[in-house]
Amino acid sequence: MKEVYKYGIELIHRKITSARKNGQGTFDVKDDKGTIYHAKKLLIATGLWDNVPAVPGFKELYGKSVHHCPYCDGWEVRDKEIGVYARNKNGFELALALKGWSDKVTYFADGRNKLKPIEVETLALNNIPIVSYPIERLEAKNDKLHSVVFKNGESRQCDAIFFVNGFRQQCDLAETFGCNMTKKGVVLTNRYQQTNIAGLYVAGDAAKDMHFVVVAAAEGAKAGVLINKELQKELTIQPQEQILAS
Ligand SMILES: Cc1cc2nc3c(=O)[nH]c(=O)nc-3n(C[C@H](O)[C@H](O)[C@H](O)COP(=O)(O)OP(=O)(O)OC[C@H]3O[C@@H](n4cnc5c(N)ncnc54)[C@H](O)[C@@H]3O)c2cc1C
Repeated sequence: MKEVYKYGIELIHRKITSARKNGQGTFDVKDDKGTIYHAKKLLIATGLWDNVPAVPGFKELYGKSVHHCPYCDGWEVRDKEIGVYARNKNGFELALALKGWSDKVTYFADGRNKLKPIEVETLALNNIPIVSYPIERLEAKNDKLHSVVFKNGESRQCDAIFFVNGFRQQCDLAETFGCNMTKKGVVLTNRYQQTNIAGLYVAGDAAKDMHFVVVAAAEGAKAGVLINKELQKELTIQPQEQILAS
């Protein structure tokens, strides 16, 4: 963080409660203390929240033995007993992906199966059992997942669970501006992170691409270059004939 100060950047740790375009086509951004900031361009990088399942134990173990991304956390649990939790969404792809890290993958449907018949068959062929009993809670030992406990009193040993349950924007600024969104709820941009609103950029998890730290950083860099180019263009004094032609 210290590094940014030498470039004249000011960091303000405040929650932004609203943002709008004013009559001059620039942005007014308001924080929770009522301070208004003005900007010619706006880059939103406010991330997503994963919808952690409401079953007891998920929240407490999230980031320890409960995960959502196999590419982030699969390696650490390779060859272990891995569960896939998919009640409200289809966990077919996630279950097959996790087979790359362990042969012991179980699909937990928690009483509500979203799988198509062909997917059920494929999981069976790939030795991924589907357990459909409604889940009561996750049981931990020493702060690590130990087992999945079902409402019927039975339980099943499990070392890690990956869930698929959707996500939501951490804040609704982009939506309020009228940005085009995907069905999954992320902002559509072009390859330089420009949205359909002139001067407004969205980078990182909030925008449509893979949700990784390096992707978020790369998108921020791309947006930064485009913002700089746009500002350069606006500030450059053009010969009179070019202004008349444009
Ligand atoms: C448990 C977990 C494990 C992960 N593991 C990995 C991994 O191993 N490797 C990897 O590459 N990625 C991993 N990720 C994904 C990675 O964290 C994200 O892709 C990355 O953090 C996205 O960066 P971002 O800046 O877009 O959003 P975030 O990191 O979520 O940052 C958004 C910021 O915006 C702020 N904010 C939100 N709303 C407002 C508002 N209204 N006003 C002011 N500020 C606001 C938030 O407070 C936050 O500081 C993991 C994610 C999770 C949840």
